[in-house]
Amino acid sequence: MKRRTALKVISQGSALLLLGPTQLAWGAKLLAVRAWPAEDYTRITLESDQPLKITHQLLTKPDRLVVDVEGLELTPTIKELVAKVKTDDPYIAQVRVGQFQAKVVRLVFDLKESIQPQLFTLDPVGDYQHRALFDLYPTVANDPLMKLVRNSTKKSAPPETEDPIGAIARKEAGKSDAKTTDIKPNSDKSIKRLLTIAIDPGHGGEDPGAIGKRGSREKDVVLSISKILRSKIEQEPDMRAYLTRDGDYFVPLHVRVNKARRIQADLFVSVHADAFVQPHAKGASVFALSQQGATSTAARWIANKENNADLIGGLNIKSQDKQVAQLLLDMSTTAQIKDSLKVGGSVLREIGGFAKLHKNHVEQASFAVLKAPDVPSILIETAFISNPEEEARLTDTNYQEQIATAILKGIRNYFAQNPPVAKSRQI
Ligand SMILES: [Zn+2]
Repeated sequence: MKRRTALKVISQGSALLLLGPTQLAWGAKLLAVRAWPAEDYTRITLESDQPLKITHQLLTKPDRLVVDVEGLELTPTIKELVAKVKTDDPYIAQVRVGQFQAKVVRLVFDLKESIQPQLFTLDPVGDYQHRALFDLYPTVANDPLMKLVRNSTKKSAPPETEDPIGAIARKEAGKSDAKTTDIKPNSDKSIKRLLTIAIDPGHGGEDPGAIGKRGSREKDVVLSISKILRSKIEQEPDMRAYLTRDGDYFVPLHVRVNKARRIQADLFVSVHADAFVQPHAKGASVFALSQQGATSTAARWIANKENNADLIGGLNIKSQDKQVAQLLLDMSTTAQIKDSLKVGGSVLREIGGFAKLHKNHVEQASFAVLKAPDVPSILIETAFISNPEEEARLTDTNYQEQIATAILKGIRNYFAQNPPVAKSRQI
């Protein structure tokens, strides 16, 4: 009832405004509508030249999300949304758009299942003007661990495994493995078990990352390299891979870290292809976390740029788990950094075998995405997409294959020299 009253007042307000010269300033111009469907969540973005006022209600039987956008008229741009939401969207069956009242456009999302929406607005940043974002999360959040298990059911761990996830995988697959019930405490530190590698393709969705002169987007290039790397890792008998994003959607930085921790990853590899102010900057770089400031100005510059992803990609600040963010900051251990430098060095050596390196040592800076306290984490800038020569190479499948092979070799060499210990972490 309260709502209805509010709408009435607005309607009166708009009628008044129609009479005055302020009318033009009041109506927002919609610049674009975008849909980012993904298993994690589906995002709808409305971009406008002025901030939009949004109210929403969630209805059941059938499940619907109703969004009222004030100060907007029904234009072809908003109608585009209907076509932009595809039938295979995980959460939205269809969208209906109508002029609910003068200057109030109503969007009705018919849902495939009950969702938990997060609606928020963002101020202009980078190339974007004002944005209103509707994130449709499943009521029961997707568990990265279950996804990993589902995707690696074909892979059985070596018999002497102590890996609890491997055991779940076999159980899931409906196979019984007598050996898993017969594990004896093993004092040998070098236990042979499945290694879980979290691959983190940078950027995605609203955040394109760096864009090359020919229009190649970092988010696409790194997803493609990451997928090649995943399939190579999956071919290894003692490894399996998990992608922090496997499509074109945005994943906040702390969520990437949390996903890696949830699956108890043995290693986190963030894949990027960045830009620098000077177009001639070239070569691959590998980074580890630094607690004491960056090792070079360029490293600090790149870290700042990467850390801006949340602003551009669109993070709902209110929903961000502040406690988790603080925990990640405080608990970053010197041991993690030490391991990260080792694995980073191993990967850098392999990449240096065929590609130009920006620096011939692992650099360090305060990358938000490398802050898991208990997972060795590296960030690879595979090349500079801002360099026209390197942009061409980055979009070449052969080069992508080469880079992925080098990363895998580096990882393999690192684990050959630093065998994994039994997992005892409680997450
Ligand atoms: Zn990047």
